Amino acid sequence: MTDAKQDFLPFALPDIGEEEISEVVNALRSGWVTTGPKTRQFEADFAAFLGGGLEAIAVNSATAGLHLGLEALGVGPGDEVITTTHTFTASAEIIRYLGADPVFVDVDPNTLCIDVAAAERAITPRTKAIIPVHFAGRSADMEALLAIARKHGVRVMEDAAHALPTTCGGKMIGTLDSDVTVFSFYANKTITTGEGGMLVTRNPELAKRARVMRLHGINRDAFDRFTSKAPSWYYEIVAPGFKYNMTDIAASMGIHQLRKAQAFREKRAYIAGLYDESLAELPIIRPPHAAPGDVHSWHLYVIQLDDTVKVGRDQFIERMFAQGIGCSVHYIPMHLHPYWRDTYKLTPEMFPASQRIFEHTVSLPLYTRMTEADVQRVVRAVKEALR
Ligand SMILES: *Cc1c(COP(=O)(O)O)cnc(C)c1O
Repeated sequence: MTDAKQDFLPFALPDIGEEEISEVVNALRSGWVTTGPKTRQFEADFAAFLGGGLEAIAVNSATAGLHLGLEALGVGPGDEVITTTHTFTASAEIIRYLGADPVFVDVDPNTLCIDVAAAERAITPRTKAIIPVHFAGRSADMEALLAIARKHGVRVMEDAAHALPTTCGGKMIGTLDSDVTVFSFYANKTITTGEGGMLVTRNPELAKRARVMRLHGINRDAFDRFTSKAPSWYYEIVAPGFKYNMTDIAASMGIHQLRKAQAFREKRAYIAGLYDESLAELPIIRPPHAAPGDVHSWHLYVIQLDDTVKVGRDQFIERMFAQGIGCSVHYIPMHLHPYWRDTYKLTPEMFPASQRIFEHTVSLPLYTRMTEADVQRVVRAVKEALR
């Protein structure tokens, strides 16, 4: 009997329960399927979950939220925005949406998050903002980053697509002193609405701008039009906005996913712990943990093959797939993608840490529906693939 004869174990799977299903059905039957009461509730629940009196603005993707956040910060043509090369392209593409230029910096190999010293060196008079990414669900060094941002008068928007729930210095990501934080509810994230995201901010001006730009630049939202005292047909366009609102169908899922977020995190942390133990003796660099006392969301379990390993990264992944195990790579860094590489003349030598990590990195399956037997199966496949 070999593992190859078993069912394929996918890299990621959402965890949707009967609660989400009934709430979605309830939304469908209610006659209100776009942004409405369920979205309002999800926003209120989300703000309460993070705590700290902030505003939560639901959107149809984290990419949309990042775009709205940077727009509200006033980023435009001629500006520079610093981010990490070791991320998903969404962190950078939204800078280009606004006609500004991303300035990519390397990562700290100990956290896989933005190298704060490199970020500070990249600041120029054109720098408007910095976008750190809490890679895999481990927070970036936000204390140092916020300090340099303050010192140079630069804004900070956190790409928290991996970071629900994550803490930094004992505080939930989303409640720190940055300007804007954006979470993702994409299908493979720690909680999901299929597609969706949440922008959070403490700054009422930024919140107001993001709300208006989320829906066509209309100065009142669609739900208000049918509930407020003003005639329902009347609205004003105050800017050329976007179509980024979340539907009540998605929010119905989000309401229940959020209630499970802590339990989901505990399950993920448990699986990460099993991997840590089982892989300890192998020629593998295990993922960085959170700083002492802090919470890691464990969105991803990212290993690096040691230099002593004879099998290459690509061949390792092929061998995992041959044994029925889905794996992934986080990330192909921005400096290797044709668009970013050619537009900004980027080379691997400019990002030695990210380049090295990329060449050795594999993400193993990590999700709440995995059983202990699934984890042991992945571990056996890793051992086999390393031979
Ligand atoms: C998933 C992800 C995004 C984009 O999220 P969407 O909700 O799919 O738009 C942005 N940044 C990072 C780091 C991500 O992993």
